[in-house]
Amino acid sequence: MPGAETTTTITAMPSHVFRFAPSPNGPLHLGHALSALTGFRLARRHGGRFLVRIEDIDTARTREEHVASILADLAWLGITWEQPVLRQSRRFAAYAEAARCLDAMGLIYPCFATRSDIAAAAASSGLGNDPDGAPLYPGIDRSLPRREAEARIAAGEAAAWRLDMARALEAVASFPAALPLSFSESAPDGTARPIAADPSRWGDAVILRKDTPASYHLAVVVDDAAQGVTWVTRGADLFAATDLHRLLQTLLGLPEPFYSHHPLIFDATGAKLSKSAGAPSLSELRAAGWTPTDVFSAIGIRD
Ligand code: GLU
Repeated sequence: MPGAETTTTITAMPSHVFRFAPSPNGPLHLGHALSALTGFRLARRHGGRFLVRIEDIDTARTREEHVASILADLAWLGITWEQPVLRQSRRFAAYAEAARCLDAMGLIYPCFATRSDIAAAAASSGLGNDPDGAPLYPGIDRSLPRREAEARIAAGEAAAWRLDMARALEAVASFPAALPLSFSESAPDGTARPIAADPSRWGDAVILRKDTPASYHLAVVVDDAAQGVTWVTRGADLFAATDLHRLLQTLLGLPEPFYSHHPLIFDATGAKLSKSAGAPSLSELRAAGWTPTDVFSAIGIRD
């Protein structure tokens, strides 16, 4: 438990930049409303700026009608944001550049293994799972000679690029100022406390996917830095991801934002709200007669 001496007050710092960063592969539900309003209300309270970023690296699953309905739902909730809205689908060159930096440090490698190759090797590896519940990567292709990998890519074989976690941790150990890796978890009142980050629990995470030349983890750190985001507000389901984000920020020389992870909203069966579990969308609630005030009280926003 950190003592009082480790608690800092971050609202005394110059104007903060907040963002809401939805993925447009479905409509917004009450959980998204809580995320968006958490950042927007903090921006209002502390005189900060508020941005919206559309996280559409998964171009096959992105639907323009979802982008339009997300923005309409945010406006209906009374949220305003700066223009332009950044689209990650326009940022692949920036992600390629970041991946090139990691590659120049010898920290990423191409991986040709299929999902079933990985599942089969993981089952016998005894490595366990990452914080999202996926089997930890069992190391297939980690030692493939680079010339061989490049020849396969040149011949048209698809590869994901993975972080060599052991090497990445060795690399950060040579930046003594960065250790121990940690992040500042901030309360709405602007006090922040340090949390130790353990990126090793993600194993050799994917940095560039096979199906799209980016990954959530790489794109989010590159864009938070490019947009000058100083205070990341998002759901507790991304708490563990922050460990990996701090590692990538350190390796890439990107600034460290403050973080606030808000509690998730659960449905009557105790499941986290999600489109696949049948959570009603904000537009469905609006069509059923809900007002923004009804949304605020459903997600525990009282003032
Ligand atoms: N795009 C992510 C999502 O919709 C959120 C990313 C973030 O806030 O870091 O779950």
